[in-house]
Amino acid sequence: MLKEYLSFEDVTKLLDSAPSSVENVLAQDCSEDFGRVFRFVCAFSPHVCKQEFKEYRFESIARQGIRTHLKSHINDAKANYSEEEKKTFSTRNQLFKSSKNGKIYL
Ligand SMILES: [Zn+2]
Repeated sequence: MLKEYLSFEDVTKLLDSAPSSVENVLAQDCSEDFGRVFRFVCAFSPHVCKQEFKEYRFESIARQGIRTHLKSHINDAKANYSEEEKKTFSTRNQLFKSSKNGKIYL
């Protein structure tokens, strides 16, 4: 899934993909300090949400936190978005790297 922007259908498919794909695609990995601080920032509809999950030493806890958070975004969108909102939905794929410098931007 290497499109820069994902549609509503793309995002809902993440629920059926490998568990880690949810946060890999929809969260910014801001982990720092050589694996001692794990920090994931929600990038789902980035204009309204930038919730952060930070954990010292335990990557799995940070991942679980952001994953649960992102899944609730997706399930909320499935349940509450209008057809128009689903059609116009777009969110940035965090796996998509800019070809210029290889960095990931929100
Ligand atoms: Zn969020």
